[in-house]
Amino acid sequence: MQTRLRPAIAAIGLVLALPFTAASATTPIFDAHLHYRPAVIETFGITDVARTLASNEVRSAIVMTPDPALIRRLQAGTDTRLVPFLEVSQRLGRKMDWMHVEDLGERIATMLDASEIRWQGLGEFHILADDRFAPGFEQLLDLAVARDLTVMIHGDPAVIDHAYATHPEVRILWAHAGSYAYPPLVRDYLERHPRMHMDLSMRNPRINPGGTIDDDWFELFLDHPDRFLIGVDTFTAHRWQQYTQLKDETRAWLRQLPEDIARAIAFENGERLFPAH
Ligand SMILES: [Zn+2]
Repeated sequence: MQTRLRPAIAAIGLVLALPFTAASATTPIFDAHLHYRPAVIETFGITDVARTLASNEVRSAIVMTPDPALIRRLQAGTDTRLVPFLEVSQRLGRKMDWMHVEDLGERIATMLDASEIRWQGLGEFHILADDRFAPGFEQLLDLAVARDLTVMIHGDPAVIDHAYATHPEVRILWAHAGSYAYPPLVRDYLERHPRMHMDLSMRNPRINPGGTIDDDWFELFLDHPDRFLIGVDTFTAHRWQQYTQLKDETRAWLRQLPEDIARAIAFENGERLFPAH
């Protein structure tokens, strides 16, 4: 039924192209994948971040950082509501092998308790399938469940399956819709793991090849509109400088969705999962 619906929606989109575009340009954004790290601040300062987020209608954002002081400075300097995630692997200087750090759970707990920041998540954590049985990963999941923190995972499908086999309650945000972002695989994981959500950062070229939204992604968004979030993934100063362009590439496919679904993915899902306190 969704497939048959689509040409009608596309036709409406053409007819209404002008007003639809104008309305969508002001749709607020919840950006689910920002990084702000000490190395970036010299090139792209607090005022640059504040101006960039404001001019792009970013009302709220997950900001991942190893440094609580940066969260405090950003919170003081921007009107965007920040959802802070502690970037543990950056803090430890162990991007790919953090799960082999001894007593990782205790070390993360100490980091969380050392500042008055109200951390709402942990990550981003890069992890390959072979590392899913490491004790550090289990300790991370234990801690996330105990403290009701969301874990941002950049990793293989087997990692997600293992996490839910051992910790069914854990809340995972699967970065970039996973390592193999193919709609049939994504759909399968969404249906099997109801507490997992997907961040779509870095996936604009797959979702919107040549400027037309891919049919399989389109149907996936219509079938699971409450499970996706967007993000720009500002892992370098250069990505921060390109923010407006990258975000516009995301808006280019959001505009091709029915407006309520675009609004859910762009903004409302993030607000519901990480409400203001
Ligand atoms: Zn990232």
